Amino acid sequence: MIRIWLSVSLLACATPALASPDCGSLQQRWKEKYTADFKIEPMAFNFTCPSPVVKLARTFHDLETIQIATLTESAPLYHFVTSRIRKMVFDPNCQALAREGGGTITICPAFFNDTREDRAATLIHESRHIDASDPGHVNCVGGRHDQKRKACDETLMSESLKGSGYNADLWFYGLAMQEPNSNHELKRAVMQSYVNRMVPDRFNNAKAELIRKWRKN
Ligand SMILES: [Zn+2]
Repeated sequence: MIRIWLSVSLLACATPALASPDCGSLQQRWKEKYTADFKIEPMAFNFTCPSPVVKLARTFHDLETIQIATLTESAPLYHFVTSRIRKMVFDPNCQALAREGGGTITICPAFFNDTREDRAATLIHESRHIDASDPGHVNCVGGRHDQKRKACDETLMSESLKGSGYNADLWFYGLAMQEPNSNHELKRAVMQSYVNRMVPDRFNNAKAELIRKWRKN
């Protein structure tokens, strides 16, 4: 299963950004925690300051930081990924953002050019594919990706984690957007713009009420 590039226009956000960990702090966290938690293949990533790998570490930090008021577990999004992943590798030749197979999440070069918000969603999306209950993607019928192979979820589910990767994206964005800006550093306007682009085009079947709920109109 691959996750393809989703272009989106970045929206300005008036809220001042929270202080973000600097490269040295992320590098330390990478060594002490992230490589073990995400089962990162030795030598897969060359972490120097600066380097693109810092963006991957910052995504781990984002998943670790977001606390969800309605869930009792601490750092549930971080654990969503780390409890599923069996290995993380890098492939300089893959054409997607990331892909998953057999519990291994492969990071592709385009991942490092993606937004911070979509990078976090990508890891949630690929982790969902590891579940035995993941129904997988289907060929798109209609919409912007009409006829594209395995590029849609069959149905926009009312319970997102019963669907495949795109439902998991919405699950992630829904949780992150419900939390106040003080909780994490991802921009609500950017996340909503991804949701607005995804809802009409990534689901072959979607009830109007669910489309309205997600698109906020
Ligand atoms: Zn997928």
